[in-house]
Amino acid sequence: MRTTQRLVLASGNRGKLQEFHRLLSPLGYAVHPQSEYEVPEVEETGLTFVENALLKAREACRISGLPALADDSGLAVDALNGAPGIYSARYAGEPKSDEANNHKLIDALTEVPVDQRTARYWCVLVYLRHVEDPVPLIVQRSWEGEILTSVRGEGGFGYDPLFWLPELGCSAAELDGDEKNRCSHRGLAMQSLLEQLAT
Ligand code: IMP
Repeated sequence: MRTTQRLVLASGNRGKLQEFHRLLSPLGYAVHPQSEYEVPEVEETGLTFVENALLKAREACRISGLPALADDSGLAVDALNGAPGIYSARYAGEPKSDEANNHKLIDALTEVPVDQRTARYWCVLVYLRHVEDPVPLIVQRSWEGEILTSVRGEGGFGYDPLFWLPELGCSAAELDGDEKNRCSHRGLAMQSLLEQLAT
């Protein structure tokens, strides 16, 4: 019989939590949100996704005593020189709001023609086996798309209703959870991390 491997997810983002749960529970992982261990949100002082993911994973590991998985992710829009990037969650300021972020993005791109609205999501995953793990597993993956002029679809989270997938002919918010995990930055990063964990 397969034993359950417990890990703490260093995030309070419900959208991410659902996606990781869907990816990992069939493989025998029990994903515990960091709120279960009263891990506070760390200040994301890094200038890269990887620095911020390491900060989050280490804090979750230290407080929970469990292996920790952190995801730092965001949207990079070419016409905005890579913004909102590492500031994606708070693009429109505090308190964090997906709706306000999407409005701000629509406004920022009003003058940008269709053929210059390319963008990509980035996901950096860090897995720490214990708080002093000197060789964390690190994976970075992206997902290419274009930014729509208005929202489409009800699924996903964050910028998904504005993230158009030309090859699929729909927005990321029009995919169901399994479809999104098969092609998304997070799904691909998790697949690669699982391969490393298995070696
Ligand atoms: P973090 O929690 O600091 O890593 O911020 C991640 C932010 O990036 C989210 O709040 C979203 O705004 C955006 N983001 C990352 N991944 C996705 C995704 O899969 N769909 C939509 N937005 C995403």
